[in-house]
Amino acid sequence: MAVWVNIRRSLNEAVLHRERCLEVPSVPVRSDFWEGGWFEYPDKDTALDALEESGGMRQVKCRLCKP
Ligand SMILES: [Zn+2]
Repeated sequence: MAVWVNIRRSLNEAVLHRERCLEVPSVPVRSDFWEGGWFEYPDKDTALDALEESGGMRQVKCRLCKP
């Protein structure tokens, strides 16, 4: 199942969501990895690897969907 990550650079955190979470935007939004936004990954492992490489962001699980 795809995983969405909401990067919030201003808070230095990344929130993980499941594909069908209500918080995931239903229309494409412009995202910049270094500024923040929404990013889709094919699975949770890939998402976590990408976050590791970006370095130092707090990983937060969504309270609604708990990926
Ligand atoms: Zn969620």
